[in-house]
Amino acid sequence: MPEFTSDAPRANRNSPAFPCPRCKQPSQWENNSSRPFCSERCKLIDLGHWADGSYTLPGDPVDGESITGQDEED
Ligand SMILES: [Zn+2]
Repeated sequence: MPEFTSDAPRANRNSPAFPCPRCKQPSQWENNSSRPFCSERCKLIDLGHWADGSYTLPGDPVDGESITGQDEED
Protein backbone atom coordinates (compact mmCIF):
# COMPACT_ATOMS: atom_id res chain seq x y z
CA MET A 1 0.00 0.00 0.00
CA PRO A 2 1.32 3.44 -0.84
CA GLU A 3 2.43 5.53 2.07
CA PHE A 4 1.84 9.01 0.73
CA THR A 5 -1.61 9.23 2.28
CA SER A 6 -0.30 8.74 5.79
CA ASP A 7 1.62 11.98 5.65
CA ALA A 8 -1.24 14.41 5.39
CA PRO A 9 -0.15 18.01 4.98
CA ARG A 10 -0.81 20.13 8.01
CA ALA A 11 -2.23 22.88 5.87
CA ASN A 12 -5.10 20.59 5.18
CA ARG A 13 -6.25 20.89 8.76
CA ASN A 14 -7.21 24.48 8.18
CA SER A 15 -10.01 24.96 5.77
CA PRO A 16 -8.96 27.11 2.86
CA ALA A 17 -9.53 30.77 3.53
CA PHE A 18 -10.58 33.27 0.92
CA PRO A 19 -11.36 36.97 0.88
CA CYS A 20 -15.03 37.75 0.95
CA PRO A 21 -15.94 39.48 -2.33
CA ARG A 22 -18.14 41.83 -0.38
CA CYS A 23 -16.18 42.92 2.70
CA LYS A 24 -12.75 41.49 1.81
CA GLN A 25 -12.55 39.75 5.14
CA PRO A 26 -10.86 36.37 5.22
CA SER A 27 -13.53 33.75 5.33
CA GLN A 28 -13.73 30.03 5.65
CA TRP A 29 -14.86 27.95 2.74
CA GLU A 30 -15.84 24.88 4.67
CA ASN A 31 -19.09 24.83 6.58
CA ASN A 32 -19.95 28.09 4.94
CA SER A 33 -23.36 28.04 3.33
CA SER A 34 -22.95 31.63 2.24
CA ARG A 35 -19.84 31.12 0.18
CA PRO A 36 -18.31 32.71 -1.69
CA PHE A 37 -19.27 35.31 0.89
CA CYS A 38 -18.10 35.29 4.49
CA SER A 39 -21.60 35.30 5.86
CA GLU A 40 -25.23 35.28 4.93
CA ARG A 41 -25.28 38.97 5.57
CA CYS A 42 -22.65 39.78 2.97
CA LYS A 43 -24.40 37.50 0.56
CA LEU A 44 -27.71 39.26 0.98
CA ILE A 45 -26.08 42.66 0.78
CA ASP A 46 -24.36 41.79 -2.45
CA LEU A 47 -27.46 40.30 -3.98
CA GLY A 48 -29.45 43.27 -2.78
CA HIS A 49 -27.13 45.66 -4.54
CA TRP A 50 -27.64 43.87 -7.78
CA ALA A 51 -31.39 43.93 -7.35
CA ASP A 52 -31.32 47.54 -6.29
CA GLY A 53 -29.48 48.57 -9.41
CA SER A 54 -26.55 49.97 -7.49
CA TYR A 55 -24.20 48.10 -9.77
CA THR A 56 -25.45 49.68 -12.93
CA LEU A 57 -22.84 51.09 -15.20
CA PRO A 58 -22.15 54.82 -15.09
CA GLY A 59 -23.91 56.78 -17.77
CA ASP A 60 -27.56 56.37 -18.47
CA PRO A 61 -28.68 54.81 -21.72
CA VAL A 62 -29.66 57.04 -24.61
CA ASP A 63 -33.24 56.41 -23.64
CA GLY A 64 -33.22 59.39 -21.29
CA GLU A 65 -32.36 61.91 -23.93
CA SER A 66 -35.38 61.34 -26.08
CA ILE A 67 -37.55 62.33 -23.14
CA THR A 68 -36.13 65.86 -22.89
CA GLY A 69 -36.31 66.21 -26.66
CA GLN A 70 -40.06 66.05 -26.53
CA ASP A 71 -40.35 69.27 -24.60
CA GLU A 72 -42.00 71.07 -27.45
CA GLU A 73 -45.60 70.32 -27.90
CA ASP A 74 -47.82 72.27 -30.14
ZN1 LIG B 1 -18.11 39.45 3.93
